[in-house]
Amino acid sequence: MEVIRIPRVMQGTSKGLIIKGKSTGLVPTMGALHEGHLSLVRRAKEENDITVVSIFVNPIQFGPTEDFESYPRDIEGDTEKLGKEGVDIIFMPDIHSMYPEKFSTSVEVQKISERLCGAFRPGHFRGVATVVTKLFHVVKPTRSYFGAKDFQQIVVIKQFVKDLDMDIDIIVCPTIREKDGLAMSSRNTYLNKEQRQAATVIYRCLKEASDLVKSGIIDGNHVKGVMQDTLLKEPEVSVIDYAGVYDPLTLDELSEIKGDALLAIALKIGNTRLIDNMLVTKGR
Ligand code: AMP
Repeated sequence: MEVIRIPRVMQGTSKGLIIKGKSTGLVPTMGALHEGHLSLVRRAKEENDITVVSIFVNPIQFGPTEDFESYPRDIEGDTEKLGKEGVDIIFMPDIHSMYPEKFSTSVEVQKISERLCGAFRPGHFRGVATVVTKLFHVVKPTRSYFGAKDFQQIVVIKQFVKDLDMDIDIIVCPTIREKDGLAMSSRNTYLNKEQRQAATVIYRCLKEASDLVKSGIIDGNHVKGVMQDTLLKEPEVSVIDYAGVYDPLTLDELSEIKGDALLAIALKIGNTRLIDNMLVTKGR
């Protein structure tokens, strides 16, 4: 396994792979890897000649009061896990090589970036779209792999890939959960024992809402009300950013569920912000 730290070097390697006719699967991550990340890595390995995992805690997608400094970092553990998976290349740039002095460009996807998490994390999706664009230009992947847990991120990425004619397949992989349903996340390590137990309310709430829609309830506001009630009953939940029913394409709130619907939640337990979602189809 090769560890590359310099974008130019990674780019040279990527060009060489293209000349040799090799396909490359890229898994962008911020490290502190868990089984959710590794599920993406396994899928990339299955479908490509070469697998590249990037590890970069991207400062420009964090707000000034968010957890950039304290975000979990575990380079040694990550390297060991990726070695065991048989990853070919870890691309691990430092901040200055990604954002040198006078860096002044950004990629912004309008409208959908302002919905859901975008309303509570201004600039977050601009930071995501910019770093993923850079990673795509440096690694030049055939396919890139993302988790359904970050649903809005996928909608944003698919949009700029289409708008900017990027010749890269975006592959969406299912959310990997703990046994009690909590979506795996690097941020789960922030939770103490009581908070970790309380966090199971998120999956329970999504499941309950999904059962309502499957049973034929089409009133989005009713489903939203049930979701809010369930979440508010958990005293460890300190803030609900949003919880409700959305159109999976536009991310607009749905008052009437006609076909596919996205059930999505973002809340805080203590100071830890957690998100999760579930796709559901009316009556199915
Ligand atoms: P992150 O390191 O949090 O930026 O995540 C890197 C990638 O892993 C993103 O595409 C995430 O959607 C994906 N990911 C994170 N958690 C999970 C999970 N529990 N199941 C599946 N994919 C995940």
